[in-house]
Amino acid sequence: MLESLTILFKLQKIDQDLHEIEQLKVNIPHQIETMRDEQAEVEQRFSEQEQQVESLEKDRRQHERDLEGVQEQIKKYQGQLHSVKTNKEYDALQKEMQTQKANVSVHEDAILQLMSDTEEAGEALEAIRVEMETTIAAIKKQSSSLEKKLTTVDEDVAVKRDERQRTAMRIEARVARVYDRIRRNLGGLAVVPIKKGACGGCFNIIPLQIVAEIRKMNRLTVCEGCGRILLVEETVEV
Ligand SMILES: [Zn+2]
Repeated sequence: MLESLTILFKLQKIDQDLHEIEQLKVNIPHQIETMRDEQAEVEQRFSEQEQQVESLEKDRRQHERDLEGVQEQIKKYQGQLHSVKTNKEYDALQKEMQTQKANVSVHEDAILQLMSDTEEAGEALEAIRVEMETTIAAIKKQSSSLEKKLTTVDEDVAVKRDERQRTAMRIEARVARVYDRIRRNLGGLAVVPIKKGACGGCFNIIPLQIVAEIRKMNRLTVCEGCGRILLVEETVEV
C-alpha cells in the first residue's frame, strides 16, 4: 500500500502533463485562428483606407476636368466678346463670364482641399501598411512555430501515455481505481497533501489522529470535505 500511495502523486503529475499536452490540440488551432482574424482585420482596414485615397483622387480628377471645361468656356466667351453687336449681348456675356470665373475658384479650392486630404489619407495608409506588414510577419513567425509544436503533440502524448502506463503498473489496482474515479468525478487533483493540518484540496482541518493514520500509509484515506485522497506532504514522491 505504501508504495502505491507514494506513486499516486507521480501518476497525478503525469496526468496533469497529459492534460496540458492534449489541451494544446485545442488551444493551438484556436490561437492560430485568432491571429488570422487579427491579420484579416488589419488587411481590411488597409483596403478601406486604400479605397479612401482612391476616392479622393477620383474626386480631384473630376474637379480638374470640370475646371478645364470652365476655362474653355471662359475662353470661348472671351472670343465672342469681339463679335457682339449690342450692349445687352455684351452685358449678358460679361455676366456669364463672371459666373464661370466664380466656378474656377470653386474648383481650384476643391482641388487644393482634396490634395491636402489625399496627402493626409496617404500618410494614414502608409502607417496602416507598416502595421499590417509588421503584424503579418509576426503572425507568420508565431503560427509556424505553433504549427511545428502541434506536429509533435501526438508524439508527446504517446510518450506520456507510455510513462503513465508504466507508473500505473506500480500501483495496486484497487488504489488506481479509486484514484481514477475521484479524478473523473472531481476533475483536476485526486490526491492532495495535508498542509498545516488541513486538506490541500479544500482546506478542511484533518484531526491529528487521522493525520497520524495517514502517515502510516496502511490504507487509503479520503478527505471528508472534498473526497480527495490525502497524503502527508513529506511522504510524497515528486
Ligand atoms: Zn479536502
